[in-house]
Amino acid sequence: MASHRSLARLLAGKLLDPAPDEWHRDFGRVRRRQPQAVVLAAGIADVQETVRYASAHGLPVVARGNGCSSNGQSLTDGLVLDTAALDRMELTGEAVVRVEGGARWGTLHRWLHEHGLALPVVTSNEHASVGGTLSVGGFGPTSPFVGAVADQVVALDVVTGDGELVHATADGPHHDLFSYALCGLGQVGLIVRAELRVVPADPAVLVRRVDGDDLATVAERVWADERLRVCRAVYSTAAGRWKVEVGRSARDAAAEPDETLVADYHQRLFEAEAGFSVGIARGQVAAGLLADETEARRLWSDFFLPMENADAFFAAVRQRFADPAVVPVVNGAFLRAGDRPRPPLSPLPDADRVRTFGFYCIVPPDRVDEYREHFDAAGVLCHDLGGRQYLHGYHRAERDFYRAQFGVPTVDRWREVKRRYDPNAVLGPRLSL
Ligand SMILES: Cc1cc2nc3c(=O)[nH]c(=O)nc-3n(C[C@H](O)[C@H](O)[C@H](O)COP(=O)(O)OP(=O)(O)OC[C@H]3O[C@@H](n4cnc5c(N)ncnc54)[C@H](O)[C@@H]3O)c2cc1C
Repeated sequence: MASHRSLARLLAGKLLDPAPDEWHRDFGRVRRRQPQAVVLAAGIADVQETVRYASAHGLPVVARGNGCSSNGQSLTDGLVLDTAALDRMELTGEAVVRVEGGARWGTLHRWLHEHGLALPVVTSNEHASVGGTLSVGGFGPTSPFVGAVADQVVALDVVTGDGELVHATADGPHHDLFSYALCGLGQVGLIVRAELRVVPADPAVLVRRVDGDDLATVAERVWADERLRVCRAVYSTAAGRWKVEVGRSARDAAAEPDETLVADYHQRLFEAEAGFSVGIARGQVAAGLLADETEARRLWSDFFLPMENADAFFAAVRQRFADPAVVPVVNGAFLRAGDRPRPPLSPLPDADRVRTFGFYCIVPPDRVDEYREHFDAAGVLCHDLGGRQYLHGYHRAERDFYRAQFGVPTVDRWREVKRRYDPNAVLGPRLSL
């Protein structure tokens, strides 16, 4: 294993060489890669220094927010750049927060609340970082109404492959860098700061269930109700039924009989999410499927389908994901194209109305190949039906996959933007584009 003495001198005390085991794995625990070293960046200058070093030595450098992706996206045999300490946040004006790339959503959510503010979209994973989430998209229960986290970005500060710090906006001179940094798995630059739109905090929500088996009609009813702020769909594999939950601000009017008050909807989701995969793994241990919880492998993926093809997709793949011990629920969302142009690498397909299906499978090691096959078959069908897969999770990371997902012109453009901003091709996990 190479020794990185000159980098260690530059980053006194911030280089872990050899890399401890924790950085060899991600949330999925399906893939394992041993990095040469881990950099615990304390500031943006450390990121620049590390990237310059990596570029000079032709070493891959992969940013890691919290390693919550599950298909090796934050793993490398080069340098891991851990961004956890890049967590500063400040309000720049009434409606924008400037936050460093390693900040965690839970911390930011609570800090904004103390200032009477909120993010328009919060994902249910409070431990994921800003940079890691913007590098895939970021969807939460308000997304049916306001889009992705990536849609809330006003500007990005990005360290490019030559170690330069570049300010990028949607319509400035580095608009391509801005567009391809969003949802682009850290290929064109490392996001060290983001300016995000914020809104007045309104955490208390009155929730109720919406009935109806035709989810396209349910979605239209949800969008037609201007009071609604949140919406989530969940399918129980045991019961074979979808449930749709909606919520509106508790400020607007008193609760109706079928509504329940939730004081902080996002905090409740954070807590539910924290127990989700742990609970499934414990159930599998109790049922004798796993020797212990560390054996659990997490193959997760979300499929985004044009609304008109969503039922056909689900009908065709449902049986592959029907084992309640492995996937007790399927998570769903209704999404709309919205007014803003979507980033080219967004998981949203080119459709006005979209439905998503999240299969979060917790599997024993000896069933990983079986579930990979299920996901691969679902991925092919998703693309055939005009959909896209969300890149945070398991997907077939091969050239034909990216071409089927984004189309050849977009993949070609992605490669060109990478060549311009990362000429030595050191940034991000190795992708076959
Ligand atoms: C329990 C759980 C719940 C989740 N819930 C949701 C949800 O509700 N909604 C949703 O949309 N997603 C959800 N996800 C997916 C999650 O948002 C993504 O996996 C996200 O990428 C995790 O962020 P991270 O900081 O851990 O990224 P990592 O896994 O560390 O990195 C992900 C990718 O981004 C790159 N990257 C990381 N930081 C940077 C940076 N600063 N600049 C450039 N590239 C970078 C990495 O190199 C890697 O390719 C969930 C995941 C888990 C495990």
